[in-house]
Amino acid sequence: MSSSKKFEKRRKYEPACSGVVLYLGLNKKYDHLLHHNFVFSKDPHEEFDFIYRQGKPAPDPTAYVCAPSISEPQVAPPGGEALYILVHTPYLRPDHDWSKMLPEYREVILDKLERTGGMKGIRDRIVCEASLTPEGIHKRYRVLNGAIYGLASHGKYLGAFKPANRSKDLKGLYLAGGAAHPGPGMPMVLMSGWIAGDTVDNDHQAGQLAGAAK
Ligand SMILES: Cc1cc2nc3c(=O)[nH]c(=O)nc-3n(C[C@H](O)[C@H](O)[C@H](O)COP(=O)(O)OP(=O)(O)OC[C@H]3O[C@@H](n4cnc5c(N)ncnc54)[C@H](O)[C@@H]3O)c2cc1C
Repeated sequence: MSSSKKFEKRRKYEPACSGVVLYLGLNKKYDHLLHHNFVFSKDPHEEFDFIYRQGKPAPDPTAYVCAPSISEPQVAPPGGEALYILVHTPYLRPDHDWSKMLPEYREVILDKLERTGGMKGIRDRIVCEASLTPEGIHKRYRVLNGAIYGLASHGKYLGAFKPANRSKDLKGLYLAGGAAHPGPGMPMVLMSGWIAGDTVDNDHQAGQLAGAAK
């Protein structure tokens, strides 16, 4: 099998989950919020089943809620708040049209924040709003099906093993980023770049880059 065919064969990976982000400007802050907050779903098994197996947004989601004015008051007018809310969703499926799905899912998220996060009357406090959906993430970052964290990290092998930083198939090809070893998230992605850079340097020092694909 040719190098490029082998490379293509290895590309059949499952994307990680995607997400919806709501950016909400509130005219009145919630005093019980910290800078970082989590509002958990009642049943994580059910939530993950929706996200990973059924490929549908979970009806009872977990939300990460960031209230940055706690640490940096200048990001919101006095007494107000600039909330960042991230809810995980499935990666983009062919039947997903987030221009239609977002209005409904926004209500699910706001209901959850009111019900579990103690943020009663949140709709009345919103004075400005923006959002990001899996489609938006896909278009903005050109990532695999809108996946936030590169390749799925569940299953027997994917949790521990991501594609290596030195390609096994194409000499001179090095991989770095959220979908390569050691994995996604800012700290890991920085490590990925570091390892890939070191590997190129080592290979160069050892004279192994001569004759790499041009
Ligand atoms: C909404 C959201 C929230 C997140 N929250 C966190 C968090 O709290 N903590 C955390 O650690 N991680 C978080 N992550 C994950 C983190 O952002 C990623 O793991 C990380 O950014 C991946 O880095 P990367 O360099 O692989 O890819 P990216 O950061 O996506 O960079 C790739 C770049 O390449 C550009 N690009 C793509 N295709 C092309 C092309 N053909 N030509 C030219 N340029 C191209 C893209 O525009 C992009 O700028 C979050 C991600 C998202 C989307």
